[in-house]
Amino acid sequence: MVALLSSLAFLLPLVSAVEIGVDKTSCTAAKRFSPLNMARLEVMDLAAVAAEKAHTLAQTNIAAAWLAGNLVDEQIFRTYQIFQTFFPLDGHGQQLTQASIQTVAIGKLTSILLDKFINFHNNLNNPAFGPGTIQIWCGDRHIEQRQVGTDANGQPILRYFDTDKVPEVEMHHTFQKCADLPTTNAYAFNGGSDIIVCDYAWRRKKQDLYVISGFRRNPQSIQAGDSLDDYSLITGTLAHELFHTYMGFHNDHQVVFNGQMVGAYGTWGVMELAQQAPANTLDNCESIMLAAIAMFLDGWRWHEGYATAL
Ligand SMILES: [Zn+2]
Repeated sequence: MVALLSSLAFLLPLVSAVEIGVDKTSCTAAKRFSPLNMARLEVMDLAAVAAEKAHTLAQTNIAAAWLAGNLVDEQIFRTYQIFQTFFPLDGHGQQLTQASIQTVAIGKLTSILLDKFINFHNNLNNPAFGPGTIQIWCGDRHIEQRQVGTDANGQPILRYFDTDKVPEVEMHHTFQKCADLPTTNAYAFNGGSDIIVCDYAWRRKKQDLYVISGFRRNPQSIQAGDSLDDYSLITGTLAHELFHTYMGFHNDHQVVFNGQMVGAYGTWGVMELAQQAPANTLDNCESIMLAAIAMFLDGWRWHEGYATAL
């Protein structure tokens, strides 16, 4: 465990050295280069803070402390509450119990955050993964349709291609652009090496900001009762997409709402997922992103989904 903690310390400079580039052409045109450039660095801080807090919690036997009548450190207790809300399981799909928290649930998330960072770094050095960078784009104008053939009725068969790559890369036949997905913040493709931030992601700002380090440094600027969703912003959108890259490519989990399956997005969605299918929370990018933001903005409690005073 001590070795893990010290590995986190040297991980930080490695992670900041990782090349996550913002596409100058599309993002400058959209006047979004500067906030994205800040957000890509902030994501690394966000994940490192969350991993460190989860790790500290994993070393603390809260149940034993309570049984012995000892006080639990306030910050550690807040992390514990966040886990209860976002990852309420013991690794076998069971509800979290005091006895199981120290052994399985926290250890699993800690390993996701730490190991995925290490794997991420290794991936970027793996020639099979790509050119060694993750590229963030503003919009998907460079994903263009091409005719790839003609069907039995003489109609053209159209497919989308990533025209940034040489040779151009054909997208999956189910691919849809931002314009076809009007309530999608962002998506990742090419194994997670390309992240498209759609216009929809820019509808949200908090106090005229898209990034959240200022709210960490100055917790007084957060209002009691503010939703955790108010603080995911562009940093949260990028963190969600980057977690897809770290965690392997799979779809986000869904929850039942009014008899329909809907994506487990936003604080409501991930809190519902924790109730409906707790075993799915540990590999749901949105759950990990929102829990990480709750841990990052540690001047407040967030386990009810909105800011409550310490
Ligand atoms: Zn996703």
